[in-house]
Amino acid sequence: MRARALAVITSIAMVGLLLSLPVANLMADEAADPGRAAVVGGLARGVDRDTAEPAGPRQHVIGNSVEGRPLEVTEIGTGDTAIVLIGGIHTGPEVGTVYLVRELKDHFASNPGQIPPGIRLVFLPNANPDGYVHGTRLNARNVDLNRNWLTDDWEPIATHGRHQVSAGDAPLSEPETQALYHYLLDLGPHFALSYHGYVGLIEDNGAQRSWDLSSVYAVAAGYDHISDWPYYDITGQFIDSMAEAGIAAADVELVEDDPDNFSRNLAGVLAVLDLVGRVGI
Ligand SMILES: [Zn+2]
Repeated sequence: MRARALAVITSIAMVGLLLSLPVANLMADEAADPGRAAVVGGLARGVDRDTAEPAGPRQHVIGNSVEGRPLEVTEIGTGDTAIVLIGGIHTGPEVGTVYLVRELKDHFASNPGQIPPGIRLVFLPNANPDGYVHGTRLNARNVDLNRNWLTDDWEPIATHGRHQVSAGDAPLSEPETQALYHYLLDLGPHFALSYHGYVGLIEDNGAQRSWDLSSVYAVAAGYDHISDWPYYDITGQFIDSMAEAGIAAADVELVEDDPDNFSRNLAGVLAVLDLVGRVGI
């Protein structure tokens, strides 16, 4: 019994050490990087559950990739209305979506006042961390993570342009889609945006307010707005899975090598925040 009690105490001490170390390490860097200090301040507040609503970024891991890399989510803002931004469902040639969602996250971490009261932004910059490391569009099992969602039309072999791609052994067979699907269904977001490249448009999913929010995003960002992908059949995709779950979502297709990529997508997100915050759509 004593040995077991000691093991429990040791475990608690280890957990305490693990929880405190990242914050302590980040704190040491504050002087060198004031922007990061703001983030760290939020992170430190975020782990203190005794205080009122935390204002700064809170980070957590919602699951792991095939090769065990974490899917890291950052929340900024205190409201119950969650708007989600997802990058990197496809990496490799679409890795620019990871950089964009990271940049947007950093922007709102430095400017949390741009998030209206009642709203919380949730960032998952890299939904395919193995593909990111290997420089591939697919995950580590060569599955297309935007063909592996739980939808009525899921098929094991799917289409990407003129190519066939694996959609996995079953809907949500991949740990990345499985973790994100269950996270989003628990969260019940107001709107979820998934970034891809590079057609230069936004495609709504027809659920609830998706058309309205996609429209204001499109106007602010200067993208076309469509409701149906006209180029080829896409089975088992994210936005259809969300539609079937009753969640408003949209795909944003960036413009390749766009010098205004960040500013136009920031304008899109701000337009959505304005419409939701001010009008309540
Ligand atoms: Zn894509």
